[in-house]
Amino acid sequence: MCGIIGYIGNENAVCKLTEGLSVLEYRGYDSVGIAVESDGEIKTVKCRGRIDDLKKKEELSALSSHCGIGHTRWATHGAPSDTNAHPHRSGRVTLVHNGIIENYKELKKELEAAGKSFVSETDSEIAAGLLDVCYLESKDPVTAILQCARKLTGSYALGILFEDRPGEVYAVRCGSPLLLASSEDGCYLASDMTAFLPFTKKYYCLAEGEIACLSAEGATVHRDGMSAFSPAWSITDLNAEAAQKGGYPHFMLKEIFEQPRAIVNAVSVRARNGLPDFSHDGIDLDFWRSIQRIQIVACGSAMHAGLVGAGLLEHYAKIPTTVHVASEYRYNPPLSSEGTLVLLISQSGETADTLAALRYAKSAGLPTLAIVNAVETTIAREADRRIYTYAGPEIAVATTKGYCTQAAVLYMIAAQIALARGKMTEGHLREMIHSLLTAAPAAMERFLSEKREQFVRLAGKLSKAEHMFYIGRGLDYSLSMEASLKLKEISYIHAESYAAGELKHGTISLVEEGTPVIAIMTERDLYDKTESNVREVASRGAYVILICREDAPSAKVSDDVILLPGTSDAETLFCALAAVQMLAYETARARGCDIDRPRNLAKSVTVE
Ligand code: GLU
Repeated sequence: MCGIIGYIGNENAVCKLTEGLSVLEYRGYDSVGIAVESDGEIKTVKCRGRIDDLKKKEELSALSSHCGIGHTRWATHGAPSDTNAHPHRSGRVTLVHNGIIENYKELKKELEAAGKSFVSETDSEIAAGLLDVCYLESKDPVTAILQCARKLTGSYALGILFEDRPGEVYAVRCGSPLLLASSEDGCYLASDMTAFLPFTKKYYCLAEGEIACLSAEGATVHRDGMSAFSPAWSITDLNAEAAQKGGYPHFMLKEIFEQPRAIVNAVSVRARNGLPDFSHDGIDLDFWRSIQRIQIVACGSAMHAGLVGAGLLEHYAKIPTTVHVASEYRYNPPLSSEGTLVLLISQSGETADTLAALRYAKSAGLPTLAIVNAVETTIAREADRRIYTYAGPEIAVATTKGYCTQAAVLYMIAAQIALARGKMTEGHLREMIHSLLTAAPAAMERFLSEKREQFVRLAGKLSKAEHMFYIGRGLDYSLSMEASLKLKEISYIHAESYAAGELKHGTISLVEEGTPVIAIMTERDLYDKTESNVREVASRGAYVILICREDAPSAKVSDDVILLPGTSDAETLFCALAAVQMLAYETARARGCDIDRPRNLAKSVTVE
């Protein structure tokens, strides 16, 4: 959450910062600002709103500089306002902050007692005040940052300017992500790789405890406040187009259509001779054999992917699996025993709740495995083992290809453990992997292009609803949870998902004439039971859309039906996923919502 950018170099810093912020805006978009060093002073321009609002400000066009920092905010402390927008200044320190300073109240009291005053409601301004006090004492930026960091609790990534250190940008992080980058024209600081992809591919992930200084001479990193060294740059294989819309009206639509390819990317590196093989991830068969039970820990859509994964793991690999909300995990830890694996899922690799759960699991001595999309992120680095989903940058706040590739990887893990435990025949496994690698992506691609008109038509009807239901059984129930979350996130229609048989135990009282109920019915064994539940709501006046296989006998019980192609479970599951994503997308579009930047949300939840 929140985008941070910093730049020092021969080019116009104002352009670099605003360009970087436009790319980063998906990480937070309630206020925005930059601070640059100009004529020996730090000049700040900031406002409530988005980067386009900032660009309209006259003060901005008057600025000229080669060195500065910028921020796009997702408010945690204090409403979105001009005053609460970052950068924040105290004395000689100006900074931008991502995260939460948990002890800001105590620090504020101490600092106020010492004569400091604050103008915003943010925790970030307190960090600026504390750093200014430390700098006044030590006179050395690195020492001051180190002393300040020792007193801060919570999570933070800071980009810092000191008024009397022209041409230098400092950075430090704890919990929240921060990267450095180097190009011909200068050095960058960013909370996300996408911000500097248009300028360079050379990057360095700042580690916790490291302090970076960017200057005209390049970047230096101080570890533990001691030695300074030049970062060992890595080269990313992502390109700038990956973070552009590529002709689509929204990132979300582009990412939905990228899913067939993303499934192939996620699966192909874990298949050898038609069978599952995770040697690409450095994980051997002995490891998979050692697992007796699995606890999946994640948040939001990743948790929903985990529910699908748990169904697959129990069904195919016969391994007991439970799913836990990450923010609950360490406060209400489930019982573990010898052979328990903690499997964490996070698209960004920086999800603060999941990271806290990972650290808890490690402290409890449990083996950890992370499924992560963004490479070299904190969760990926700290987990004992990691599997990347290789979905590429996901810019739309509501995840689609992130979730899809998590489900694909979980399919492969289920297959791998089934192989290791001898729970499926090689023939059956080969069929499953073939279907994941070829049939499912092809079916999804065709389905997406052929059904577009139907999605638009159905969304026209759904867009008038104020509340609705999704129902399903088994894996379809897990999918319906993701379906209703997707709709809520981007269209603001209240939706609930229910196990199809559960609705009648109370909530069916909310169904009235015209209430939309979307029934997902892909599991052949459960056709009859789900059909009864569809009849129950239909006879109470619900407007029912049934999402089912082409061969489902009960396709006629609903008002509308979306027929899913494919014969294998994987084909049907991924097409059903595409259907609910597209229904949410088109419904939000029909309601005129800001699809890529839904209200109150931001990508990559780096606060607990
Ligand atoms: N906690 C800070 C604030 O509310 C930073 C939020 C962010 O990460 O954008 O301003």
